[in-house]
Amino acid sequence: MCIRDRLLNTAPEEMWTSANMSFALCPLLTSGAIEAISHVGSDQQKATFLPKMTSGEWTGTMNLTESQAGSDLSAVRARAVPEGDHYRIFGQKIFITWGEHNMTANTIHLVLARTPDAPEGVKGISLFIVPKFLVNPDGSLGARNDVHAVSLEHKMGIHASPTCVMAFGDKDGAVGYLIGQENKGLAYMFIMMNEARFKVGLQGLAIGERAYQAAREYAKDRVQGRPVGVKSGDRVTIIHHPDVRRMLMAMKASNEAMRALAYAVAQSLDLARHHPDAATRRRQQARVDLLIPVVKGWLSETGIEVASLGVQIHGGMGFIEETGTCQHLRDSRITTIYEGTTGIQAADLAGRKLNMDQGATMRALIAEIETTADELGRQPGDDLAAIRAGLRAGVTALADATDWMLETRAAEEAMAVSVDYLMLAGFVCGGWQLARSANIAQQKLKHGRDSSFYEAKLVTARFYAEHLLPKADALRASIKNGGVSILALTEDQF
Ligand SMILES: Cc1cc2nc3c(=O)[nH]c(=O)nc-3n(C[C@H](O)[C@H](O)[C@H](O)COP(=O)(O)OP(=O)(O)OC[C@H]3O[C@@H](n4cnc5c(N)ncnc54)[C@H](O)[C@@H]3O)c2cc1C
Repeated sequence: MCIRDRLLNTAPEEMWTSANMSFALCPLLTSGAIEAISHVGSDQQKATFLPKMTSGEWTGTMNLTESQAGSDLSAVRARAVPEGDHYRIFGQKIFITWGEHNMTANTIHLVLARTPDAPEGVKGISLFIVPKFLVNPDGSLGARNDVHAVSLEHKMGIHASPTCVMAFGDKDGAVGYLIGQENKGLAYMFIMMNEARFKVGLQGLAIGERAYQAAREYAKDRVQGRPVGVKSGDRVTIIHHPDVRRMLMAMKASNEAMRALAYAVAQSLDLARHHPDAATRRRQQARVDLLIPVVKGWLSETGIEVASLGVQIHGGMGFIEETGTCQHLRDSRITTIYEGTTGIQAADLAGRKLNMDQGATMRALIAEIETTADELGRQPGDDLAAIRAGLRAGVTALADATDWMLETRAAEEAMAVSVDYLMLAGFVCGGWQLARSANIAQQKLKHGRDSSFYEAKLVTARFYAEHLLPKADALRASIKNGGVSILALTEDQF
């Protein structure tokens, strides 16, 4: 049997993030640091740091960003000067999540820095472990290291997560231990990138789910107006108004599509790592590599839309802090920015991942989606027919746009529409997963079990096919019109 740890972990991670995204960020970053040390750390580093980090006694951070080095990490300037069996780290990092706190006895910072003779650009970046407190040979905590927070950012959201400006080496230099080899730091960060980007995508879903639950309760409670066409008699709760239904359905269908896609990718992550057959591992890894930017980009962008609908359903109260809806919108807003903005995800998808095998992995995915549509065609019922029609149209749009992107390659014009392409892939993959679940729901309904749950699945998938998947056509048009008008104005004309 294949291990399914990624898939199993995804469900509680989603729930923790729904409960409190700020707090859930701390284990998210810690697990990234654990991952890096496990993959490329020495035996001694593993023995010193991993037991306390995996038990939660110590937390971890990722120190990449500097004021001049955000999306473009080739501009990192932090210095690492060799000194015996360790290095001395000097420099400043900004926006460091959970950079300083007193929740645990120690914090293990992972830091990108350059050694004195390192080449320019990304080829000269190394990765270091910099503990807040040095660790004695017997495992006890020693002196405070020369690293500390110099200020806290005042943010739009995730207020319970301390985002710090970190100073390294204000005195003698912070003691740091090289992970793996010099100048391979960025490659090591990329090992963890899939997991971290996946988890930030999941944050979009988690906040979307929380926003939906709040909006659903409010819609069942708030009395306002009468049903369409009724002029007198009892007023009704707002869930009876068709437009509120539209918004609730959009939230519910988007969340279910995001969840199904994220969990399918989590399963691929497991198969890529643990499947006994090497060819299957390779195929699944290619699928993961292709879809991670989609999970990060589409889920985070959609999560913001869902949180915004939650505000709208609350009416004026949605704009008032005490309902909590403002927090959902503010918290979700960061998800399209950190761990690579949507623009960076789209450039990765359209510029790198799609072209890496001349589109073969994307075309295999499209063929699988077409097979699902064919399977639906063999089933009876109006719901499945509508879902099939929506999915067919969506996957045709994705196939057309993919051909256009491949022909245009990574030209500036293709990059200008790359976010449209990422969103198109997201809408269609989400619709694909809901179509699969509708197919299963139809089978289950034949046996009469949990009929209310499965009926809702069918209707939700139909709503998605009829109201959200048509966006695929509009996105195809934007893509195939190309980026000419996007790029036409001179800088002075803005
Ligand atoms: C709350 C918060 C927490 C964070 N936590 C951490 C952390 O723990 N550790 C850490 O190291 N960093 C962290 N960051 C930093 C975060 O990862 C960066 O802010 C992010 O990568 C964007 O970099 P930037 O802010 O410099 O924006 P810029 O790179 O300046 O981007 C500005 C705009 O230009 C676009 N852009 C830039 N380059 C390109 C390009 N090549 N192609 C297309 N578009 C482009 C971007 O998409 C964006 O719209 C955090 C940031 C915040 C706000």
